[in-house]
Amino acid sequence: MARRKKIYEGKAKILYEGPEPGTIVQYFKDDATAFNAQKKDVIEGKGVLNNRLSEFFMTGLNNIGVPTHFLRRLNMREQLCRSCEIIPLEVIVRNVAAGSLSKRLGIEEGTQLPRPIVEYCFKNDELGDPLVTEEHIAAFGWASQQDMDDIVHLALRVNDFLSGVMMAVGIKLVDFKIEIGRVYEGDFQRLVVADEISPDSCRLWDIETGKHLDKDVFRRDLGSLTDAYTEVAQRLGVLPRSTGATKPTLIN
Ligand code: UDP
Repeated sequence: MARRKKIYEGKAKILYEGPEPGTIVQYFKDDATAFNAQKKDVIEGKGVLNNRLSEFFMTGLNNIGVPTHFLRRLNMREQLCRSCEIIPLEVIVRNVAAGSLSKRLGIEEGTQLPRPIVEYCFKNDELGDPLVTEEHIAAFGWASQQDMDDIVHLALRVNDFLSGVMMAVGIKLVDFKIEIGRVYEGDFQRLVVADEISPDSCRLWDIETGKHLDKDVFRRDLGSLTDAYTEVAQRLGVLPRSTGATKPTLIN
């Protein structure tokens, strides 16, 4: 069998050339990193869970007319996506103060924000993904004004969709990060939600107990990351609820 071409290997995923032009395959690894890769571990089953959860969120977004790069899941760890040119920004939407916002502005974690706040970080590991403003984005040509209008619109639609889906299963969407890609169609370009949407890139708190069901479990050593992600997947109906006898199989 011909070996497929690796395009890029990141901290949590590998991208391969897809079977047809204009497609890529995203492979979800079990590697977990935090604090700009200063904390690292391999968490068996994380890739399988994130592949399924990202499929669930991206499919839901496609179904309500929010364009994403996701085409279909191929197997336990891989999904077929449209290839796109990633805009070098992490687009963060926050509903509740937490993480770097709380540190930066001295706002207690858990404080409801008066309205969703959209922030941008420049995607650059060496610099630790610094926060940037629309002025930097325009001046350095990372995105046009039209792109920025589209990005805010996409980010807020993703926020409304994810908040609702999570609320329905007793989870508060505190914040999340998305990446945006450009897809070219003839002479036109379209922006789509790209990369992944999973508990690796969201903060998810149980509404009743405040329990963390996201990557902070790993960042802050709060217990088993796969148990937390499995709980999210089970509440959403992405994985069957275990009877207690056996855990869902996550290794492949
Ligand atoms: N986030 C992410 N990747 C990053 C940085 C942040 O997915 O490289 C997500 C993070 O999981 C959280 C949100 O973006 O859901 C806001 O993160 P924050 O700026 O508070 O950074 P942190 O406290 O994680 O350093």
